[in-house]
Amino acid sequence: MDAVKSEKKDILARIPVGISACLLGLEVRHDKGHKHSRYCTEVLSQYFEFRSQCPEMGAGMSAPRKAMHLVDDGEKHPVNNDAGEGSEAPLRLLTTDGKRDCTGMMMDFIDRTLPSLAPLRGYILMAKSPSCGMERIRVYNEAGNVQRRDASGLFAAALARRYPLMPLEEEGRLNDAALRENFIERVFLYDDWCQMMEQGLTAKKLIVFHSRHKFQLLAHCQKTYREVGPMLADLQARPLQDIAGDYIHAVMSAMKKRVSRGAHVNTLQHLAGFLRQDLGGDDRALINEQIDAYLREEVPLVVPMTLLRGALRKTDQPYLAQQRYLSPYPDPLGLRNRV
Ligand code: SF4
Repeated sequence: MDAVKSEKKDILARIPVGISACLLGLEVRHDKGHKHSRYCTEVLSQYFEFRSQCPEMGAGMSAPRKAMHLVDDGEKHPVNNDAGEGSEAPLRLLTTDGKRDCTGMMMDFIDRTLPSLAPLRGYILMAKSPSCGMERIRVYNEAGNVQRRDASGLFAAALARRYPLMPLEEEGRLNDAALRENFIERVFLYDDWCQMMEQGLTAKKLIVFHSRHKFQLLAHCQKTYREVGPMLADLQARPLQDIAGDYIHAVMSAMKKRVSRGAHVNTLQHLAGFLRQDLGGDDRALINEQIDAYLREEVPLVVPMTLLRGALRKTDQPYLAQQRYLSPYPDPLGLRNRV
């Protein structure tokens, strides 16, 4: 019984993240194939509760089906759904032979489905798809020639518009250690934010949230780090919801920036500075040596980070101990072994 309870607790604790269904191995692609991502199903699934969508199947298409691509005819196409609300798809989703226009059914699916995705804390998308691709999707003209390569798939574009704070990433880009680490860090931070908002925003909770993510922000973007301080200095100045909205937009935008080695070194040194009084000379020297070794690319980030975490255990510094920068996601993901 205890084992069942514990398993249930683990399942409940996983973070809800959306994913293109073909990445889970479902045979939903136009050729009835899939694009199974083992990293998603074997590693990330331990921490993320994946909720999959295949927008093309959801829109009513079958597998197999004709391949599709995006076409720009230079006009906007209002699409009415059952609710009487219209979405506009400036790009059309056509079969590659140009015989079938699937834009309307896709936009209906998007209008039906997007509201239900609010609980998600991130989304992993399949690249190169005219529906799911996040970026660099080819757009054709009506003659069938490539016009440009800078579009997003219709579903991905609508997702980004509706949930601008939600971390989105393409599965292929998760092969890059820095992009993978960045995306997962953002998902965990966004989850922390959503949980706080679901429990009810208060001025105190907003300050505590900022406090525990301060060093992460410092590492990602010093400019935003300096800007959000004054933003939170007077929480009576404007409605709290407005301040919180501006704050989290600034934070999530800053978190997209890759942290350079120099920025990590600056943040690590900042943290080590707080511990100067509490540590013996040998401990201080070892931490500084390993920060320098990280700067010279001789050791990965996890080395100085682990030393700092160990040093913190010997001190009584609750402000530092709460910093998510030291532990932004579960250690077994091993992400800091590769950056
Ligand atoms: S890329 Fe998107 S639309 Fe295409 S098969 Fe995968 S889930 Fe379906």
